Amino acid sequence: KAKGKGTFSHFNAEMNNRLEHRSLIETELRRAQTALEQFEIWLQPQIDLKSGRVVGAEALIRWRHPKLGLIHPDEFIYIAESTGLIIPIGDWLIESVCRHLVDWSADLPSQFHIAINISAKQLYRQNTCEKIVEMLDKHNLAANRLHVEVTESLLIKNERKAQQYLKSLSDAGVQVWLDDFGTGYSSLKYLRQFSFDGVKIDRDFIRDIDTDTYDQALSGAIISMANDLGMSVVAEGIETATQEAFLKTKSCNIGQGYYYSKPLTTDAFRDRYLTENTI
Ligand code: C2E
Ligand code: CA
Ligand code: CA
Ligand code: CA
Repeated sequence: KAKGKGTFSHFNAEMNNRLEHRSLIETELRRAQTALEQFEIWLQPQIDLKSGRVVGAEALIRWRHPKLGLIHPDEFIYIAESTGLIIPIGDWLIESVCRHLVDWSADLPSQFHIAINISAKQLYRQNTCEKIVEMLDKHNLAANRLHVEVTESLLIKNERKAQQYLKSLSDAGVQVWLDDFGTGYSSLKYLRQFSFDGVKIDRDFIRDIDTDTYDQALSGAIISMANDLGMSVVAEGIETATQEAFLKTKSCNIGQGYYYSKPLTTDAFRDRYLTENTI
């Protein structure tokens, strides 16, 4: 009994800590939205598996808090989402991605894109798609410089609206990709309903691909199905040469993961990938 009680109060303390942590993040997030310079864009390269060349990057947000240090999105995006703070933060991200694309335009390979993640509130509460198209226009950028990644959990909230908004992006020339493919539960329906330019196979399927024959079969099937439907495929979370080699035999187009590079600051990304102009 004593042990049970101990466990319970331990659990309580942990709950308390977590609640305190959440409310700390929330308070600090409200403060930070007025000082958006605390946020940073980090970029992770996407590599064409055939040529080994960088074809784009995914923008991954980081929050450099003066006291708490570098905070990763998994710790604050869901809070930003539930409080609505994702709107100003997301707007800031889109604008600064565009600015980087402009600043780097002389050194960018012709097909280079940056992919951004958008969340449900960004899609539904404010028509972020419209905003993206306006922003590209304002900065005089070709629409194919930007990709947008959405998840199934976002689509499920209002399929009709999602379809309408995302189609406006596609019509403007912005590629729309389905993120974390395979982790939701109605993927196949969505592939039919939305005309995605590509899918990203979730890291869950890649992690054990060297040994797990089910994961090998599943990822192989996803790639060939996507290719048959005219979509590109990014495999996420590639960490080893053998994972890459397997995906190449399955004709996966693009790889992303620590094997190539962890996400980098924009300066580090430019120095490493954009200084010598690759075609
Ligand atoms: P995601 O979109 O699935 O992004 C991929 C995550 O996997 C990133 O984590 C990336 O750093 C990590 N990753 C990439 N390669 C590897 C690998 O080889 N091994 C391992 N272990 N991990 C790898 P990160 O940057 O912490 O982002 C987490 C999630 O936060 C993202 O998942 C995305 O859903 C969300 N997120 C990031 N930036 C934004 C943003 O600007 N807006 C919104 N709405 N969400 C964002
Ligand atoms: Ca993503
Ligand atoms: Ca993903
Ligand atoms: Ca993920």
